[in-house]
Amino acid sequence: MSYYPASIQNLIKNISRLPGIGEKTAERLALHILRGSRQEAQQLAHSIQSVKDKVRLCTRCFALSDGDMCGICSDPARDPSFLCVVEQPADMVAVEKSGAFHGMYHILSGALSPMNGIGPEDIRVRELISRVEEDQVKEVVLATSTNVEGEATASYLAQILAKYQVKVTRIASGVPMGGDLKYVDQVTLKRALETRHAF
Ligand SMILES: [Zn+2]
Repeated sequence: MSYYPASIQNLIKNISRLPGIGEKTAERLALHILRGSRQEAQQLAHSIQSVKDKVRLCTRCFALSDGDMCGICSDPARDPSFLCVVEQPADMVAVEKSGAFHGMYHILSGALSPMNGIGPEDIRVRELISRVEEDQVKEVVLATSTNVEGEATASYLAQILAKYQVKVTRIASGVPMGGDLKYVDQVTLKRALETRHAF
C-alpha cells in the first residue's frame, strides 16, 4: 500500500473502514475508482454525501426518509388503520419486498433487551401508543424478530396494547425461531403475514 501516492493510500484506508472490506478489496476498489471516469467518481462521492445530508427519520413511522414524511406515510393508497411494527428500517424493507402488506409501519429502532439495558423508553413505544390512540388504528401486527429479544418485545407490546380498542396480531410460523426478519425469504415472509394470529 505504501507504494502508492498518499492520495490513493488515503482512499484505500477509507474504503477499508467499510464493513466486510479488507485491505486487498479496498485496494482493488480504489484502483477501479481511479481508472473510471471523473463523472462516475463524482457521482459516488455525491451519493455518499447526499445520504448524510438528506436522510432523516420519518416523523410518523421513523423509517429512513429524504423528507419529513416517508414515501409510505405520504401514500394515500396505504391503509393507516393497519400498522406493522418492526425493529429496524431493514425489516420494513423486507416486509415491503414480500408485497403482502398494504398498511403503514412503525419502526421501534430496536428491541427490548434487559441484558443490554434496553428498556421500553429506549425504543419507540410511547410513539406507537400515540399513533394507536390518535390514528384510529384497527390492527397492529407485531413483526419483531423471532429471537429472544423480538419475542419479549412482542409480548410486552401486546400487553400494553391490550388496554386499547385494537386487534393485536403476531406474524405466524414460517419465520424460523431466532430469525432476523431481513434474512427471511419473501415467500416465507408473505405467508407469515397472511397467516398471522391473534396475540
Ligand atoms: Zn413514514
